[in-house]
Amino acid sequence: MRKKIVAGNWKMNNNLQEGIELAKEINGLVESTDIKDVQVIIGAPFVHLTELNKAITSNKIRVSAQNCADEKSGAYTGEISASMIASTGTECVILGHSERRSYYGETSEILVKKTNLCLENNLTPIFCIGEVLEERESGKHFDVVKSQIADGLFHLSVEDFGKVILAYEPVWAIGTGVTASADQAQEMHAFIRKTLAEQYGEEAAQNCSILYGGSCKPSNAKELFSNEDVDGGLIGGASLVAEDFMGIITAF
Ligand code: 13P
Repeated sequence: MRKKIVAGNWKMNNNLQEGIELAKEINGLVESTDIKDVQVIIGAPFVHLTELNKAITSNKIRVSAQNCADEKSGAYTGEISASMIASTGTECVILGHSERRSYYGETSEILVKKTNLCLENNLTPIFCIGEVLEERESGKHFDVVKSQIADGLFHLSVEDFGKVILAYEPVWAIGTGVTASADQAQEMHAFIRKTLAEQYGEEAAQNCSILYGGSCKPSNAKELFSNEDVDGGLIGGASLVAEDFMGIITAF
């Protein structure tokens, strides 16, 4: 049975004190609310990771980084390695977010290296995929998403693939207030699962959590999460306000 997951991606927001405050608030709400079997993830900036791992006491919350280096160690000034992230107690890493693909030139070749390094360090990759508006309008969105998955992940063994969380984030829906409709999300998630089944078999495909991201809010989360193949969300803006994030966590 695949997990239901709501992951926050704080992006480059909150200084350390604000981050700790917010994490404590979320921790308190998660502890005092029946969130059923939902797994909560907080994706924070690197400098927050050590302190968040101390501040969070709930076993329903895991801490995630938002990126990692594509090399193990050495003379790579300014980079943070997967093993450094793991040493803070962090358990997940968001990889291949569209902001990293478009602003920082992250290619599938780079993502293969990052994915491998995460897995070698027992970190769960939250691997992001998604098309831009032009690609959807020209009917290429299924091909684009399939290539992103194949090029970034299909080198993995079925066992390693089983450790990956996928996040479908249509780029046109990120931070725009325009969310994919529940039907658009379900259609793409079902396509992704079919693509996974062709590569890894039906069981592995059924066990993979596929999150939706892009202008997900308390007001639309229920409808999005009610789809069979939508296993939760990767939340940007709404994860920065504890009540909003909780509204999404309790939307299942
Ligand atoms: P928003 O929820 O702000 O649209 O961001 C989505 C996202 O990019 C999460 O990774």
